[in-house]
Amino acid sequence: MTKANWRALADAVSPRRQLFLGGTWQDPVAGGSLSVRSPIDGRSLGDVALADEHDVDRAVSLARGAFEDGRWSQLPPSERGATLVRWSQLCAAAGDELAVLVSLEMGKPITQARNVDVPALVKTLRWYGEVADKLVDERPHSARDAVTLITREPAGVVAAVVPWNFPLTIAGWKLAPALAVGCSVVLKLAEQSPFSMLRVAELGAEAGVPDGVLSVLNGLGPVAGRALGAHPDVDVLTFTGSTTVGRLFQCYAAESNLKRTWLELGGKSANVVFPDADLEAAAETAAWSAFYNQGEMCSAGSRLLVHEDVHDEVLRGVVAKAMAMAPGDPLEPVSATGAMVNEEHASNVASQVARARADGIEPVAGGLPCSPVAGGSYFAPTVFDRVNPALPIAQEEVFGPVLSVTTFRDDEEAVRLANGTRYGLAAGVWTNNLSRAHQISRRMRTGVVWVNCFEEGDLTVPFGGTKESGYGSDKSLHALDKFLDVKTTWIQLRS
Ligand code: NAD
Repeated sequence: MTKANWRALADAVSPRRQLFLGGTWQDPVAGGSLSVRSPIDGRSLGDVALADEHDVDRAVSLARGAFEDGRWSQLPPSERGATLVRWSQLCAAAGDELAVLVSLEMGKPITQARNVDVPALVKTLRWYGEVADKLVDERPHSARDAVTLITREPAGVVAAVVPWNFPLTIAGWKLAPALAVGCSVVLKLAEQSPFSMLRVAELGAEAGVPDGVLSVLNGLGPVAGRALGAHPDVDVLTFTGSTTVGRLFQCYAAESNLKRTWLELGGKSANVVFPDADLEAAAETAAWSAFYNQGEMCSAGSRLLVHEDVHDEVLRGVVAKAMAMAPGDPLEPVSATGAMVNEEHASNVASQVARARADGIEPVAGGLPCSPVAGGSYFAPTVFDRVNPALPIAQEEVFGPVLSVTTFRDDEEAVRLANGTRYGLAAGVWTNNLSRAHQISRRMRTGVVWVNCFEEGDLTVPFGGTKESGYGSDKSLHALDKFLDVKTTWIQLRS
């Protein structure tokens, strides 16, 4: 489609605005709402209803009721799976509409929303749908006169609280495995991306998710997010967002019912480039990994650690790619990057860049807001070179298009620098030496290591971090365990 086609669809689309409570559209008890503007050009997208504690309570009680009466939790897994597969087909059919909602609400380029985010959601629903009836339990040989069973039971009511940078993908990673194993789910969306998942929820009801099993609502983090985290009848809380808010969820759990709390948090991931690597590929990917999705990526390769001997060549490639990734109109299909999620976030990025300048470093590329579309929030891909690794710009997550480059002289220094932040989400290792690739990968204190690539993934493999990047990976068969309780049944045999 052309930009004009996407603009026409954006003007025609009519987002859902109420709370999706257990399968029906409802207004909040207290009537709260939020007015939403598109970061593309600042134009109003209208209001959306905001849940408070009372609405959260209604959603949790519907979820509990549905879980206890077994309308979903006790269905044959193949039936749950078939529903998820139908749901994925409906999402695929609504792909253009979902993509345009994502671009409008959070500013990413339409081509990426259409070709990356929508297919990720579709595949996630389908994959967990197909997995639902392939799970088997265990029957250990514990004693001669007993039959013992280890079964995995759905944990109950799951609350999911998600960020705005991949509104469809991340919500899908929470919903699909939880629903596949029979849990009920209450999903709270991020304030900045309130529309696309409401439409997905509606398609879930159309696919046959029974009433009560799924609620999707908007609400302020400190109100609705907190209410879910602190709710005594939520069994599992799965969260993706900042490390600061992740900490709060542990407190909410500790102060309420000790609910299991899974946290996928921030990152400050490094690409480590050794002299024996394919330097052109390393430079291009390092820049891409820092600037893709406007740098609004938990796993962004926001630090480049490059061997002193190849620094100049790699930096040249990085700067060239940074220029090529300048933001454009998100509804223009060829734009490589789009708008920052809102003005507040763009000025937060600007102040972190200003702080780096105050710390004595000048960007070698970017460093300023820009305005490909009047009224929108955009920031140029920015590169700081020869950054002291102790500086905030090399330690703290910017969550914007800002890359800091630091050099190293040997493997030991490379490992020390790569592991030298409080985060542990991901790392890239660039080398053509097989032994070095294995040795360095083993020493990375991260949940994911990419060798000679970055951001590669598939539903078959987990995605998640360690250290202050959290725990409890999304994706893969492992994600199912987060929503299952292990139960032992010991059956004594008597003659
Ligand atoms: P955020 O932590 O500000 O918000 C995330 C969610 O938490 C939102 O739904 C928000 O409403 C809610 N929230 C905010 N304050 C709350 C509170 N006091 N109590 C309860 N809930 C609250 O994060 P964000 O700005 O939406 O997203 C950016 C962050 O998410 C970055 O740190 C990024 O690295 C991280 N992230 C991590 C991953 C991952 O898989 N590890 C993926 C994407 C984003």
